[in-house]
Amino acid sequence: MNKIRILPDNLSNQIAAGEVVERPASVIKELVENSIDAGASRIQIDIELGGRRLMRVSDNGSGMTRDDAILAFERHATSKIRTLEDLGMIATLGFRGEALASIASVARVELVTKLDRDQAGTRVLLEGGRLVDVKDAARDTGTTLAVRDLFFNTPARRKFMRSEATENYHLTSIITHYSLAYPEIAFSLTNNGREVISVAPARDLRERAFQLFGGQILESLLPVSGGRDFVARLSGFISAPRERRTNRDSQYFFVNKRYVRDKTIGEGLREGYRSVLPNGVYPVAFLFVDVPVEEVDVNVHPAKTEVRFRRNEAVKDVIAEAVRESLASAGIGPDTSVGSFGVADRLTGEDPQVRSSVEPEMEQFQIAFHPTSRCIGAGTANAASMSSGVAASPVRDNLQENDVSAGSESAVDPNISSDFETAAQRRISEPASFMPDGSPSDQQPLVPIDLPPLQSAARLVSGAEIEEVSGQKVKVIGQLHNSFIIAVDDEGLLLIDQHVAHERILFDKFRKKEAERPVESQNLLLPETVDLTPAQAEAFRMVEDHLFELGFDLMMLSGRTVAIKSIPTDVQPADARNLFAEILDSIELEKRGSAKAAFRDDIAASLACKAAIKINMKLTDEKMHWLIDRLLMTSSPTTCPHGRPVILRLSMKDIERGFHRT
Ligand code: ADP
Ligand code: MG
Repeated sequence: MNKIRILPDNLSNQIAAGEVVERPASVIKELVENSIDAGASRIQIDIELGGRRLMRVSDNGSGMTRDDAILAFERHATSKIRTLEDLGMIATLGFRGEALASIASVARVELVTKLDRDQAGTRVLLEGGRLVDVKDAARDTGTTLAVRDLFFNTPARRKFMRSEATENYHLTSIITHYSLAYPEIAFSLTNNGREVISVAPARDLRERAFQLFGGQILESLLPVSGGRDFVARLSGFISAPRERRTNRDSQYFFVNKRYVRDKTIGEGLREGYRSVLPNGVYPVAFLFVDVPVEEVDVNVHPAKTEVRFRRNEAVKDVIAEAVRESLASAGIGPDTSVGSFGVADRLTGEDPQVRSSVEPEMEQFQIAFHPTSRCIGAGTANAASMSSGVAASPVRDNLQENDVSAGSESAVDPNISSDFETAAQRRISEPASFMPDGSPSDQQPLVPIDLPPLQSAARLVSGAEIEEVSGQKVKVIGQLHNSFIIAVDDEGLLLIDQHVAHERILFDKFRKKEAERPVESQNLLLPETVDLTPAQAEAFRMVEDHLFELGFDLMMLSGRTVAIKSIPTDVQPADARNLFAEILDSIELEKRGSAKAAFRDDIAASLACKAAIKINMKLTDEKMHWLIDRLLMTSSPTTCPHGRPVILRLSMKDIERGFHRT
């Protein structure tokens, strides 16, 4: 008996749907692309229950004849290509003719459409890929496609759908993408009847960005353009370094105006920002890459969100180069090295006099203040002390090199630390630049005191267990690099990271605050306003209550603008806006809508990180004692909320072993 069988159409469509319809957002992507291909100037999208119950896209595009309306749901039915040659020069977003067939096979679909010259419109109903009904319907020219009960007939896939909030995030992101790519088209998105995005036709990308994100972001956008013939042309905007994000959510990439998830572009962008932004911090970017159609294959994946560039490396270089040029013409360049953290401030028109009079320590303070969910403030000791460039001595350099291994590697930007190492080596190999006492001399050849390589104690150092540290017996010796407290107890030597120690104290405090009200909070003299992105606005709605419990008083003004009226007492008023945006960004995608407790911790951790004493800050003995006492009273004195160690110990046993005394 023969074993091979041709699969029935419906089954093969369902299999194809597995690739085209990854999640509700992929349905919306296909439908919106169809509307754009149909020449629509107005597209309305309505979502219910994260797309699970309903996704409806209406446009004022060309519409379809009755025959086409039925044919459109056949596999490989497309009006966009006819020949193999066409495939090489695709000018439309769709071309495979399988989206509608795939979507219809896993949902209940209603299509209402009317061609301009037709009298009556057509209504087509399908269920799980089966045509159920066709009849006349009234409608203006254009097409409405409603997709209900996604995956109703594939229970396994329905079960694997993410939370409503996660799906909403992706849906919003897709519409944000396409509305950036097509400023001339009016878009509107409603979610459970609530308006999320509503933008009128705009003149250009800048105006569209303003409609979507508000005026604040516009001030830091730098135009980027460039490229090479036959490789790629780049246009769009990138942000000045002061505009920072803790994830890539604010990076929008397009290839030939098609939404893509592409690594090449992301890598090119990162390369362009190298040594301007530390790792883990992301710029805002709207990048349009135009590539000759024969240079790019969009037919790599059924969902068409992946592309393959024929000359991948060349494309990456083109992007990096254009980004560097854009930054350079704004006066931001890699030669400013680590100091360029502050360069962005130049763009704000701050008085240079004021800036130069700022103490190096103040400058470092600011570095540590920039938002990131991983809290780089805790890890930039080396970079910061390097930028100050003062009091370099070989001994100090050796110390710095050693303290790279002092437990906070995870947070240290590898670029910065390697920059630092080369800078340190340079200083060591340029004896003329300093005297042992730090003062240059032009009299005699300079001979720095070069210690022979010191034995590293790194192997002997370990994270301290809490039972081993008891407050009464801890004696503070001093501070290392204004960043770490050196202390001793009966067991030996202790090194305490002042930033993470304070972070732990505050984290516990903020967690407790939520449990017991009233909270201490301070009013801002003038309320600060923040323009939220659509995604941040979604996040805001979810955590509004928590923020209130923590001491924030926030008010949603019109659209997506929030006024900050008061903030927790431990936070600096100047920091309010950044902190607030950071908290919203840090509510991780996958956690949105899942366990509330999870993001409650995230918020407390962000707050704690922001409000904690920074590294490179001189502390009095009292303050150091206070820190240690309070630290030992917290729930977990030896690890910070991000999981890094707070205390390192060099035990007497290890010390004796290190000196070969045992
Ligand atoms: P593709 O977009 O790859 O051609 P689809 O399955 O997405 O395939 O759509 C099939 C066909 O249905 C399209 O080629 C187009 O002719 C027609 N179509 C789909 N949506 C619309 C729409 N909103 N307006 C006009 N025609 C549409
Ligand atoms: Mg299509």
